[in-house]
Amino acid sequence: MIVPIKQIVSRAHKNKYAVGAFNTSNLETTLAIVRAAVSQKSPVIIQTSESAIHYSNLQTIFGIITSVANSIGKSVPISIHLDHGKDLGLIKDCIKIGYNSVHIDASEKDFATNVFLSREIGSLAHKKGIWAQAELGSILGKEGLVKLETGEINMKDLLTDPLQAQEFVALVKVDTLAVAVGTIHGSFQGIEKVDERRLQKIRSLVNIPIVLHGGSGLSVQMFKQAIKNGVSIINIDTNLRLAFKEALVKSLKPDSDLIDPRKILEPSTKAMQAEVEKMIKIFGSNNQA
Ligand SMILES: [Zn+2]
Repeated sequence: MIVPIKQIVSRAHKNKYAVGAFNTSNLETTLAIVRAAVSQKSPVIIQTSESAIHYSNLQTIFGIITSVANSIGKSVPISIHLDHGKDLGLIKDCIKIGYNSVHIDASEKDFATNVFLSREIGSLAHKKGIWAQAELGSILGKEGLVKLETGEINMKDLLTDPLQAQEFVALVKVDTLAVAVGTIHGSFQGIEKVDERRLQKIRSLVNIPIVLHGGSGLSVQMFKQAIKNGVSIINIDTNLRLAFKEALVKSLKPDSDLIDPRKILEPSTKAMQAEVEKMIKIFGSNNQA
């Protein structure tokens, strides 16, 4: 059932587990996330990127998520979040339609502009009684500033500075903070790691829940360590895309006579559900609903 995100994240923050924020853009992915949450008795955050909203439209995707969450998912707490909001008009539309949380991603701008925009969206969100997430530092990958081509970028120049994070949070008054601590959007197994000392330092200076983006390439141990060091929300998108495609390729072998879209997509939905269930167990949010 859709609930205020505070209810989900404050408990995770206090009890030291993380809640998965899973991206969706359609019915099948939404079903997979909600069914996994129900089977694991776990709270979940379901999020849409701006491009996922443009794929159908805001009312359609919001309608799909809320109706699946309030019917199939009625036994577990679920919140809807806008991931990487950059278009101020669209962020405002999400606040208006009933999202529980919005991410204002002005991390590509200079510090003062990031503060200004994040504070403005934070205050709009709070007027509606919802949460806002801001971002400081550059999380590389598809939404980042720099394209990862060799894996040899000097990450240190792009990671969140703990002291600056402390100053930023005091100025912007948002509810959650996305940080750059070494992860990359997409899946880059082996290259990605979390700068745990940096994360610990941020955690000690910032008292709002920390969000880890781009974690799809991390090992189980790295996830667990990051949660131990204070991450309360973990964004997962690429893992579900990979699971979807792998299952689809199998169900659409050249000699397949399947023509019913439901039968073609069912293995993909199940594979995404299994992936979400796996993540929920790693994050420790199972049996917390
Ligand atoms: Zn992200």
